[in-house]
Amino acid sequence: MRIGIPAETRLGETRVAATPETVKKLATKHQIVVEHNAGLHASVVDEAYVAAGAIIGTAADAFGADLVLKVRAPDAAERSLMKPNTVLVGMLNPFDTDNLAALAQQQITAFALEAAPRITRAQSMDVLSSQANIAGYKAVIMAANAYQRFMPMLMTAAGTVKAARVLIMGVGVAGLQAIATAKRLGAVIEASDVRPPVKEQVESLGAKFIDVPFLTDEEREIAKGVGGYARPMPADWMRRQAELVHERAKLADIVITTALIPGRKAPVLISEETVRAMKPGSVIVDMAIEQGGNCPLTELGKTVIKHGVTIIGEPNLPALVAADASALYARNVLDFLKLVIDNDGKLVIDREDEIVRATLVAIDGDALRKAA
Ligand code: NAD
Repeated sequence: MRIGIPAETRLGETRVAATPETVKKLATKHQIVVEHNAGLHASVVDEAYVAAGAIIGTAADAFGADLVLKVRAPDAAERSLMKPNTVLVGMLNPFDTDNLAALAQQQITAFALEAAPRITRAQSMDVLSSQANIAGYKAVIMAANAYQRFMPMLMTAAGTVKAARVLIMGVGVAGLQAIATAKRLGAVIEASDVRPPVKEQVESLGAKFIDVPFLTDEEREIAKGVGGYARPMPADWMRRQAELVHERAKLADIVITTALIPGRKAPVLISEETVRAMKPGSVIVDMAIEQGGNCPLTELGKTVIKHGVTIIGEPNLPALVAADASALYARNVLDFLKLVIDNDGKLVIDREDEIVRATLVAIDGDALRKAA
């Protein structure tokens, strides 16, 4: 089979879907075509791909392959380079129905890796986890960079400096890594989430959990979420959480927000009133900005100062750690391919397989919509 690795063209997208490590493994059975300079922003030069067994070609060569490996969904111009029955694997956004319809219309068979279930067997191909982990790390590094004080407590001859107080809102994969990273830098950390099991994880990392008690069975039930994901909480719980968060944010130096609900707009957790109450010079990194943001003052792709608080709205944090983000993503892709390519190197789509079924978003002209 011919496998194509195009360069990503979306603004700010620096990652690449295959690395020399994964190309070397794929090249034992397949012909690999990498677009010229596809890995450049991820610190991979064409020569490294060639040494791993690939050939270098144009965008048309890469998109013209039987199997195309991408980071982000192709745009219309890129789709026009693909032939019918091409298999496409990438982070295709399973909730973007227009894009799925366009792929289906072109008879492309498409797999959206973000839709893989959060089960043990899928862990090695879990792109959400590999990329969120990097994003959580980078969010703290960016916050520390924008913050005009030290992160750790310091006792110096010139006096003592207090440790930074970090508040993490939403403790999935990104939030846990944000806690771990802030902890390594010496900060004092508090965190909040709707899902009760998170409390133990937060405490095991040495942070304090902000408990918003559940007052009704309905609240308790919704907080359990579905498939490990959160569901929108009732308004009354959100109001009580906002009150507590307002008090904790007033004391915080850095707030990292990561709260997401699959297929929906991100919940608002830091109101303008709360930002106004925060200390001048404090920093918010709103990791939910691509889903509308956890703070209404965040601006997509910008760093702004509002009421004396620096608010960072960088949409694609993994792309700022492109080499490692690509290395982990490429391994996720390789592991996924083991599910759809048999030992003879042929494509086999087993729709009985839970992971294949969940990730398959277009086949035989049909777009397979995923429930939010
Ligand atoms: P996510 O990115 O969808 O959401 C981030 C966090 O925001 C979640 O913890 C969510 O509970 C929280 N959140 C939503 N609304 C909130 C609110 N109003 N206030 C505070 N927090 C709010 O989450 P994720 O990182 O993708 O993780 C989702 C789940 O998947 C977790 O349960 C995680 O443990 C699980 N997971 C399982 C596996 C596996 O078993 N293979 C791998 C990775 C993650």
